[in-house]
Amino acid sequence: MNALANQLKSTLKEKFGYESFRGPQEQIINNLISGSDQLVIMPTGGGKSICYQLPALLLPKTCLVISPLIALMKDQVDGLKANGINAAFINSSLSFEERDQILHQVAEGKINLLYLAPESVGFISSILKKEYLSYIAVDEAHCISAWGHDFRPAYKKLKFLKNSLPEIPLIALTATADKATQKDIIHELGIIDAKINIDSFDRKNIFLNVQPAQKRIEKILNFISQHQEESGIIYCLSRKSTEKLAEKLRNEGINVGVYHAGMNAEDRTKAQEDFINDQTQIVCATIAFGMGIDKSNVRWVIHYNLPKNIESYYQEIGRAGRDGLPAEALLFHSYGDILTFSRFFEESSNQEFQMAKLLRMKEYADAVNCRRKILLSYFGEVLEENCGHCDVCKNPPQFKDATILAQKALSAIARVKENEPMGVIIDVLKATYSSEVKEMGYDQLKTFGAGRDLTKNDWQHYLTQLINEAYCEIAFHQHNHLKLTPLAKEVLFNGKKVWLALPQKNTKYKKKEKQTSTSNLSETEIFNELKQLRHQIALGEGIPAYLVFN
Ligand code: ADP
Ligand code: MG
Ligand code: ZN
Repeated sequence: MNALANQLKSTLKEKFGYESFRGPQEQIINNLISGSDQLVIMPTGGGKSICYQLPALLLPKTCLVISPLIALMKDQVDGLKANGINAAFINSSLSFEERDQILHQVAEGKINLLYLAPESVGFISSILKKEYLSYIAVDEAHCISAWGHDFRPAYKKLKFLKNSLPEIPLIALTATADKATQKDIIHELGIIDAKINIDSFDRKNIFLNVQPAQKRIEKILNFISQHQEESGIIYCLSRKSTEKLAEKLRNEGINVGVYHAGMNAEDRTKAQEDFINDQTQIVCATIAFGMGIDKSNVRWVIHYNLPKNIESYYQEIGRAGRDGLPAEALLFHSYGDILTFSRFFEESSNQEFQMAKLLRMKEYADAVNCRRKILLSYFGEVLEENCGHCDVCKNPPQFKDATILAQKALSAIARVKENEPMGVIIDVLKATYSSEVKEMGYDQLKTFGAGRDLTKNDWQHYLTQLINEAYCEIAFHQHNHLKLTPLAKEVLFNGKKVWLALPQKNTKYKKKEKQTSTSNLSETEIFNELKQLRHQIALGEGIPAYLVFN
C-alpha cells in the first residue's frame, strides 16, 4: 500500500470510524486529490459525503460544499465538529458578523469544510479565490437540471463557479443517474472533462413489493401489524393525505408522526427528530421528508401513491435498510394516480418529458417480470438473472391465452370510436349503466356486456397490460381516451394471439364479487362482431386509417 492509501485509510478510521472504503469511494477521493473534475452517481445511502469530506482533511485549504439542505446543514456541521473536523456553514440564518467571522477563518486556513446553500453564494465572494479553496463539492447536483426530478432554480447560479475558478476541481454528486440528467449536470456546471463515476444501484436487501391500491388502509394496517416496532415511512402525494392517513393509523393506536412542507419549521424539525430518535415509529410524509436524513434503521417504506418517476421512487425506497439489514418497499399502484399526474403535468413546461418518466414508473408498477431488473435497467445496469427478492420473482404470474378477451376489449374501444377513457370501456364491457353509457347510447352496442364474466379489477388489470404491451394507448391530451394502435389491428383482424398475465389473487383482501359465469357473446358472436367491425371500418366511420382492413 502506498503512503497516500495508508493515509486515506487511517483518516477514514480515525475521523469517521470506518474500517474500509465502500464501493468507489477511494477511487473518487484519489481523483479529487489529483485534481480532476468529477461527476459521482451513487445511490442514496451509498456514502457520497465521505467522498468530499475526507479529502478536505488532507488538503490544506477549504473545501466548499454546496448543499440544498439548509435545514440539515447545522446538524451535518455539528456532526463533523463532534468528530473533531473543522466545519462551518453559511446561510441566511446567520448574522452579518457571524458570516464575516467564518470567512475570516477560511482565509486563515482554519476551516476544512464550509457548507453553503446555493442561494448564499453571493455572501462569500471574498473567499472565492484559489488561494483559499482546495475544491468545490456540489451535493445533490441533479437540482441544477430541469431534467432532474428536483429542479432548484438557485442551483443555476452555480454556473459561474467553474467559469471564474477553472483551476479548482469541482465534484458533483447525486443519486440521480438517468442519462439526460447526467449530461445536463456536466453541461450546466461546465465540467466538460469530468470523470464519471457510477456506483451500483442494486440495493439487494430491499424486498420490492407492489400491490393494487384497493383497500390500502386495510393493507397498511396489516403490514404494520406484521412489522411491529419497526421504523417506517409512508409517502403520500398530498399534505392533506399525510394528515388523514396519520389520523386513521393513530385511531388504531399506532405511533405516527406527520411531515410535510406546509408545517412550520419548528414542527417539521420536531417530527424529524422524533422519528430519528425512535420517539415515533412511523412518519406519514410528503416527498419533502427524508432528503439527507441519516437514519440507518428505517425498516420499510410504503408508497401510498405512485411516485412520479423512477428516480423519486428509487431515492425514497433507498431510505429503508441503510444498515444493510433486510428492509421492504411496498408500493400501492392505482390508475387514478396516473391520471392525477398527467393532469398535473399539463401545466408544466416539460410535460412530455415528465409524462415519459411517469410511464416508465407505471411500467415498473405493472411489471409481470422481475422488478429489480426493470429498476436497474432504468439506471443503465443489467441484471443477468432474476433477483429472487421481489414480489414478481417470489410469486411469478401465470400467463393465459387472452386473445378473445383482448378482442373484446379492443373492439369495445373501436365501437366507442376511441372516444372514451378506460372506465367507460369497462362500463361497456361489463354492461354497467353509467351516465356516460346512457348518454351515448352505448347499451345499443354489440360489445355491450361482452365482458361480464370478469370483474372490474380484472378488466383494469388486463386493459393495463394491453396498454403496456402497446395494443392500445392512453391519449393523455385527449381526456385519457383509449386509442388503438397498429398492433390492435393484428389482433382484431389478423388472428394475432395475445398472452396476458393472470391477475395476482390477493386472497387476504379478495373482494367477494358476484361473477356471472358466461359472457353474453359467444366466440362465434365475437367473430361476427369482428366481421361487422371490419365492415364498419372499411366504410371509414371515424376509425383511424391504420385499422382499415385491406
Ligand atoms: P449519501 O449521501 O450517498 O446518501 P451518506 O454519505 O449520507 O450517503 O452515507 C450514508 C451512510 O453510510 C452514513 O451513515 C455513513 O456514515 C455511512 N458510510 C459511508 N461510508 C461508509 C463506509 N466506508 N463504511 C461504513 N459506513 C459508511
Ligand atoms: Mg448525501
Ligand atoms: Zn425480482
